[in-house]
Amino acid sequence: MNTREDILDMIATEAVEKYQRTEAVASSAVVRRHGRRAPYTSKGIARLPCYRCGKQAEYQWQVCADKRLFRPLCGRCDVALNKMVLQFMGDPDAEAKIDQYAASRMPNEKAVQPRERE
Ligand SMILES: [Zn+2]
Repeated sequence: MNTREDILDMIATEAVEKYQRTEAVASSAVVRRHGRRAPYTSKGIARLPCYRCGKQAEYQWQVCADKRLFRPLCGRCDVALNKMVLQFMGDPDAEAKIDQYAASRMPNEKAVQPRERE
């Protein structure tokens, strides 16, 4: 019998594997990986490539395990990262929350990767 922790681990592992299959991870040789200790200004962030995919950044993320450096992200990667975290946390309203968030972050895209909801 699986414990709740086992199940959450499986969900997180599946989410990461699915994510890696559906999204091409940019090569570090192509993308310059920016990051700094102080947050970027909105003007500054717009001049940088997304930390993950290299497209123009609009937002920024800070992760404790990454020395708390602020990292530039494009809208699509920001939404995908939020989705992965909500799924990992087992949030029962993850899909509804991410739909609303995606609409605010990427108003020109109707839905985020609808095939991932199957
Ligand atoms: Zn990106």
